[in-house]
Amino acid sequence: MRKMAAILLSMTLLLSACGGNGGTATTAAPETTKAETTAAETTAAQTTAAETAGQEGAYKPGTYTASAQGNNGPVTLSVTFSEEAITEITIGEHGETAGISDSAFDKIPAAIIENQSLGVDTVSGATYTSQAILDAVADCVTQAGGDAEALRAVPVEAGADSASAVLKDAQVDVLVIGGGGAGLSAALSASQNGASVILVEKLSALGGNTFRCGGAFNTCDPERQKDIPMTEALSSAVEKVLAHEDVSEEHAKLKAEVQKQWDEYKASGSTALFDTPEWHALQSLDAGDYEGNVELVRTLTSNTLDTLNWLSDNGVEWTDQVSTVVGALWNRSHQTPNNSGADIIAALEKNAGASGVEIYLDSKAEELVVEDGRVAGAIITNADGDKVTVKAKKGVIMATGGFSANVEMRVKYNKQWEDIGESVQTNNSPGATGDGIVMGEAVGANLVGMGWIQLMPLNSVSGGGISGYVNSSLYCNKEGKRFVAEDQRRDVLAAAVLAQTDKLFYIVCDQKEAELRGMTPEVLGYMVQNGLIYSGDTIAELAENMGVPADALEQTVKEFNEAVKAGKPDEFGRTTWENTIETGPFYAPSFSPAVHHTMGGLEINGSGEVINTDGEVIPGFYAAGEVTGGIHGTNRVGGNAVPDALCFGKIAGANAASN
Ligand SMILES: Cc1cc2nc3c(=O)[nH]c(=O)nc-3n(C[C@H](O)[C@H](O)[C@H](O)COP(=O)(O)OP(=O)(O)OC[C@H]3O[C@@H](n4cnc5c(N)ncnc54)[C@H](O)[C@@H]3O)c2cc1C
Repeated sequence: MRKMAAILLSMTLLLSACGGNGGTATTAAPETTKAETTAAETTAAQTTAAETAGQEGAYKPGTYTASAQGNNGPVTLSVTFSEEAITEITIGEHGETAGISDSAFDKIPAAIIENQSLGVDTVSGATYTSQAILDAVADCVTQAGGDAEALRAVPVEAGADSASAVLKDAQVDVLVIGGGGAGLSAALSASQNGASVILVEKLSALGGNTFRCGGAFNTCDPERQKDIPMTEALSSAVEKVLAHEDVSEEHAKLKAEVQKQWDEYKASGSTALFDTPEWHALQSLDAGDYEGNVELVRTLTSNTLDTLNWLSDNGVEWTDQVSTVVGALWNRSHQTPNNSGADIIAALEKNAGASGVEIYLDSKAEELVVEDGRVAGAIITNADGDKVTVKAKKGVIMATGGFSANVEMRVKYNKQWEDIGESVQTNNSPGATGDGIVMGEAVGANLVGMGWIQLMPLNSVSGGGISGYVNSSLYCNKEGKRFVAEDQRRDVLAAAVLAQTDKLFYIVCDQKEAELRGMTPEVLGYMVQNGLIYSGDTIAELAENMGVPADALEQTVKEFNEAVKAGKPDEFGRTTWENTIETGPFYAPSFSPAVHHTMGGLEINGSGEVINTDGEVIPGFYAAGEVTGGIHGTNRVGGNAVPDALCFGKIAGANAASN
């Protein structure tokens, strides 16, 4: 059991490494398994409420076991009954996601025992896990001869299922709304700059999309990039972006700076990868069709390395390896040891708490309070369901993330895709509903780039994945043929996939690549056995298992290997090459696009201040992360969103504190 837990944990972390792979893979494949969690220790003493619900003889005393479907598969638990009460609930095997499901495991059994009721509310953000616990306990109640339906009708005391602190009316220097990467970074930064800070998070756990993301963080980093070779194909990519016609004065100025750096680099005779913050900025603007705000993009790329180091100082570990996450376009994606945003959230949460930030879960901001033209606080629904007001002397920082999980908003604003409605999945947190955009607009904030919505091509269909790094990836369709340059922009990749048979594709890789990406034989074996990826000792066998023509796939792999050796742009224009595919066994998960990121949102300036529809700063109002717009243009570069959230969170926090 413990061994399988370890396998599942390492598989989960690898699946989330790509900044996209993690999405459906983490919902379709088992993730972390918490071995044994007993709620009895905290709840057995709280059985007095049973007197009101249970009657002597209501149950056949004993311990009963049942399973019910959770988010990632069955959740198994055991329930112990006395003659008149549920006395203990012990969580057994499950594949739910650690961090996301923890609050359900902590709260639901406790609330069931405390209230002797199955009418307990599900925990927001962990609805399926909550429901699985309730269903499995109901099954045990039936096995014990009890009446599960009657128990569902037993009233639950308000707030009885909430274990977190309850927010009251308060006065503080800085209020941060949203507990993902941007919010925690803003809160920590404000606190380190001397402000008293309250952070509110509407779900029962911190983290948002940042928790479930791959944690890939793009930054120019001469030390970590020094051993990466420059190739002819990469040089041609620089020349191509530099050849773009001027689109604005700011663009022309930036281009001239990069041209100078490029000329100096070539004159130096260096063979190491060319990279500078300005090249990162220019490439990001180009990838977003020059719809991004040059000042904001420059602010981002000139702060990424400092922010990475600040995060290190605050407990976030980074490996020495840099890669190219899908859609990242350049070898500058940094990774945490577990390839997971959970590493970032854990460190920020710990340090924010230690720094004195007060964090309130289950606390949803409803609207902003404006006094004398200044954003002066917000009205929050607290964990008890009461409306309270938090006044913020120095500023309110909106960090509520994007709106990928809000179908109505997607459909309202989309101007990029034929269909972005119900039928298109999202890999986002259920909290990504655009609340901050709505609250901001209500106080006059200008919205920018709202029509640009990112589809992530790597949403797992087969349930597993190996790596989201493009360095050695081969994408093929159901006909066994490549159809796109794998190192392309995400919008180009997604559009290309949507044009393929059944709107899906496979990533073919070999044992060498799987090992390079940290896949252990146990994890690979688990995925193969459970049908989460296809495999074969030869390319022909792999093709047969995938259901694609073997001769076509063999020819595709042969041509791919020739292109790797040539290291030049190929017929699709691919410039990033690393390893050939030749060491069996071979593997291939399948993927289809899902809604991943919303590029539009509140307009901000380089200090993180929100701008109104007249182009003026709204006093006291800051924003950071995916709730903002104007940085990524039409297409966000893979690995640029985590730095966006963390850099602008840090900037907004420091500026709000200094008011
Ligand atoms: C599966 C996946 C993988 C990804 N991988 C990468 C990657 O590797 N690299 C990369 O650069 N980008 C990646 N991204 C994108 C990136 O993770 C996000 O853009 C970024 O983390 C957003 O951070 P944020 O703090 O703005 O929002 P979030 O992290 O989503 O946090 C927003 C928080 O605000 C809360 N909230 C919302 N409304 C309210 C309200 N009314 N009151 C209180 N709280 C509220 C939400 O519940 C949430 O916790 C990935 C995204 C996904 C979905």
